[in-house]
Amino acid sequence: MTGGPEVLLSGWGRTPSGRATLLGPLTLPALCGLIAERPGHGIVARGAGRSYGDAALNSGGLVLSPAGEPWVLLDPHAGRVRVAASVAFTELLARTVPHGWLPPVLPGTAHLTVGGAVAADVHGKNQHRDGSIAAWLDQVDLVDGTGTLRRLTPEDTPDAFRATVGGMGLTGVIVSVTLRLLPVRSARLRVTTRRAADLDAVMDALANARTRYAVAWIDGTARGRALGRGVVELADHCTEPDPRREPDGPRYRIRAAPPAPGLPFCPVTPRTAAAFNGLWYHRAPRLREGTAALGAFFHRLDAVAGWNRALGPAGIWQYQFAVPDEGRDLLACVLEALHRQQGSPFLGTLKRFGPADGHPLSFPVAGWSLAVDLPAGRAGLGELLDGLDRLVATSGGRIYLAKDARMDRARFTEMYGPLDAWREARARLDPHGVFRSDLGRRLGLCG
Ligand SMILES: Cc1cc2nc3c(=O)[nH]c(=O)nc-3n(C[C@H](O)[C@H](O)[C@H](O)COP(=O)(O)OP(=O)(O)OC[C@H]3O[C@@H](n4cnc5c(N)ncnc54)[C@H](O)[C@@H]3O)c2cc1C
Repeated sequence: MTGGPEVLLSGWGRTPSGRATLLGPLTLPALCGLIAERPGHGIVARGAGRSYGDAALNSGGLVLSPAGEPWVLLDPHAGRVRVAASVAFTELLARTVPHGWLPPVLPGTAHLTVGGAVAADVHGKNQHRDGSIAAWLDQVDLVDGTGTLRRLTPEDTPDAFRATVGGMGLTGVIVSVTLRLLPVRSARLRVTTRRAADLDAVMDALANARTRYAVAWIDGTARGRALGRGVVELADHCTEPDPRREPDGPRYRIRAAPPAPGLPFCPVTPRTAAAFNGLWYHRAPRLREGTAALGAFFHRLDAVAGWNRALGPAGIWQYQFAVPDEGRDLLACVLEALHRQQGSPFLGTLKRFGPADGHPLSFPVAGWSLAVDLPAGRAGLGELLDGLDRLVATSGGRIYLAKDARMDRARFTEMYGPLDAWREARARLDPHGVFRSDLGRRLGLCG
């Protein structure tokens, strides 16, 4: 069964693209049957396509999107949800929040799927305290490379579980998961917002944060003494519903977002990036305490639909790396290098990371994570980032695979190691190498 349309796909950054045959949604028996047939050019599952690069591409092969039908089974007494991989976080939030439960890890967009979140072992603004999504999973139901449905748990099948959560779709198709939820009494957060005049001040504020959520928006264009200045946001859930704004208790509402125009040129230049970031910084309060709705705090970037299309045909690279505390000097070094190269970073985010879960392909490293969005393909930028990759690797850090579109295999191996345990687990789960992606081929994870 390989008769879907052939389509041109890319990731959120719109940089690499590839033609593939698109299939889905499939019933579970059809999915198992398709995989057992071992289609010649391999299969990869795709969620909402919010990974920036080539993780959810399989040029010349099959892409399953969505792999299956969406469904949500909430157990409001236990605070646990069994949910299909194809369910979007918008839907999950809408279903759980009215019962006083929140998905415990919320990335910066709500338009991702549960399968994509688990395959990338995503983190949120609470990674320093709550870990990544792996820490909250009781079970992952996976169709492996022989077409067999397997139940993976951290206790009973630790190798397969650790290879799959963070495994970027290369061990099988996740069909559903069981996730523990976080109890909340309100859908609002108490947020303290403060400007911090330089990178040290931003890092101090994040390192000393005692709140569940902590994040800083960095002005990647500031230089000199203002290098790395930013706006720090620290937040906790409100302990009671706001009677004025939440008369019926907590709710999560998806607001229609205006679409961004698709532009034939990139409006981001060193000058416009500096103007945008400067305005953002100066409009932020020196210190403000207030409350914010879930969407406004967690998913601000979703306020404009398809904003990636407004950045021109060459697309975006997001450069996100994590380094241990000993490598903290690299943060300033990267910002300075981008400035020298006129890299025009137009969005920057800094987070404090707590202990990593140690899954072979998972991104977090205890220390710091910096993400900057850059207009892709500018002269010299690729070479500059190649050089920065080397520094990240020698500092004991790693690049986030869900954001990457360009790292080479040698650097990847330096960062993530030879991955013997992951390769052995994958060989057991997918002995015929059915699951393949462009990212997997680029990094030597699959054939
Ligand atoms: C604006 C924005 C903000 C973001 N903020 C964050 C953040 O704060 N923290 C963070 O961690 N990430 C963040 N991300 C990245 C995003 O969370 C990840 O890329 C996530 O994997 C996207 O999920 P998706 O459903 O779009 O998956 P896709 O992008 O479609 O796929 C991602 C990977 O998951 C695999 N996959 C998808 N579904 C399945 C399945 N059913 N079975 C097996 N494998 C599957 C794919 O093969 C691929 O390897 C952000 C992305 C954007 C665009």
